[in-house]
Amino acid sequence: MDRQKEFVLRTLEERDIRFVRLWFTDVLGYLKSVAIAPAELEGAFEEGIGFDGSAIEGFSRVSEADTVAKPDPSTFQVLPWAHADGAQHSARMFCDIAMPDGTASWADPRHVLRRQLNKAADLGFSCYVHPEIEFFLLRNGPSDGSAPVPADNGGYFDQAVHDAAPNFRRHAIDALESMGISVEFSHHETAPGQQEIDLRYADALSMADNVMTFRYLVKQVAIQEGVRATFMPKPFSEHAGSAMHTHMSLFEGENNAFHNPDDPLQLSVTGKAFIAGILEHANEISAVTNQYVNSYKRLIVGGEAPTAATWGAANRSAMVRVPMYTPNKASSRRVEIRTPDSACNPYLSFAVLLAAGLKGIEGGYELAPEAEDDVWALTPGERRAMGYKGLPTSLDQALSAMESSELVAETLGEHVFDFFLRNKRQEWDGYRSLVTPFELQNYLGL
Ligand code: GLU
Ligand code: MG
Ligand code: MG
Repeated sequence: MDRQKEFVLRTLEERDIRFVRLWFTDVLGYLKSVAIAPAELEGAFEEGIGFDGSAIEGFSRVSEADTVAKPDPSTFQVLPWAHADGAQHSARMFCDIAMPDGTASWADPRHVLRRQLNKAADLGFSCYVHPEIEFFLLRNGPSDGSAPVPADNGGYFDQAVHDAAPNFRRHAIDALESMGISVEFSHHETAPGQQEIDLRYADALSMADNVMTFRYLVKQVAIQEGVRATFMPKPFSEHAGSAMHTHMSLFEGENNAFHNPDDPLQLSVTGKAFIAGILEHANEISAVTNQYVNSYKRLIVGGEAPTAATWGAANRSAMVRVPMYTPNKASSRRVEIRTPDSACNPYLSFAVLLAAGLKGIEGGYELAPEAEDDVWALTPGERRAMGYKGLPTSLDQALSAMESSELVAETLGEHVFDFFLRNKRQEWDGYRSLVTPFELQNYLGL
């Protein structure tokens, strides 16, 4: 048995761990878990744990229901809190999903990202990611469609002692760090109840696992503090939504392929082509990075979110930014993509962003001049005249752009691509047939 597996088995014994949770993610980005007794783990390492794949969103057709979860021992971590009796802990491992014949499942988002990372590796690149994750703390979590109440009245960078959950961020960060997820910054965001926690960079696959763990821990800590956490892209009409700004860089061995010390932005030709790829394919990948009806209510003028496929150095109205916080530090040259929201499936989002960027590099895409304007201040006509391509303004538009995208079909694979489009078309159709309070307020008196 290899050393990682031995380490896992030894830790289970030493720490008296009672349950091992095997985690994986469905196509829509929901975390799934099956708990096994430690005695079962050796077998799980060898053969995996069988489950009914047809019961998981996007996994398999009923005729091929038997699916196998194989724990990845490199992801073993002990969960930060013990059970109520105070003694026994649980641990978790992420799984790779396999078909009964042992081949990787095409429906597994982890596999989609791995395939894309292998493609990057064939070109000589490894991919690093760090996300800035925004979310809301709420006093309640109504499920009947009524408006939630934010847990505090704070604003950007406020350090006031708010009446709800004053210790939330400290406890959340303790929990994250205890599971090997390093936090770089955290602060109160602009809107009431809105928080942001930025993770220290890691390779893209570990980071996607980290984002899944992050959402789980943040929700748990919120409950412990007597509040609720939501990653919904835009819970309040009158406030900004929750972004997951995604910083990416490519390394060739030890060297950051995005860094060029002689460029005014210290950005290499490779880095520029990567941005050009993201912008060129922005509309096609949008349904993946912004996957809900609600996602498009965030991407509007006035919420600090991007509305056009533009880039700029310090320009926060741009979709892609080249952050200049640490000038000329080779290792930290990166690009920041501001479109993804906090409810995306991180595996699929990182995969399509990477695919679009690599396409730019492989195709030698030219990067258009930087947008210096505040894109938010321009009228749609002015934007068109300046050549700024608008981002999709609805899930419907995003799905139409995705439907004809070879890039996204190839990146997700036929199975995930078809399932995703079908599922999201249903979501859109369900939404567009609903009569909303907006319509009743405005049209009832006609
Ligand atoms: N909350 C904003 C958004 O939805 C981003 C704010 C920021 O620049 O950090 O995109
Ligand atoms: Mg922010
Ligand atoms: Mg940012």
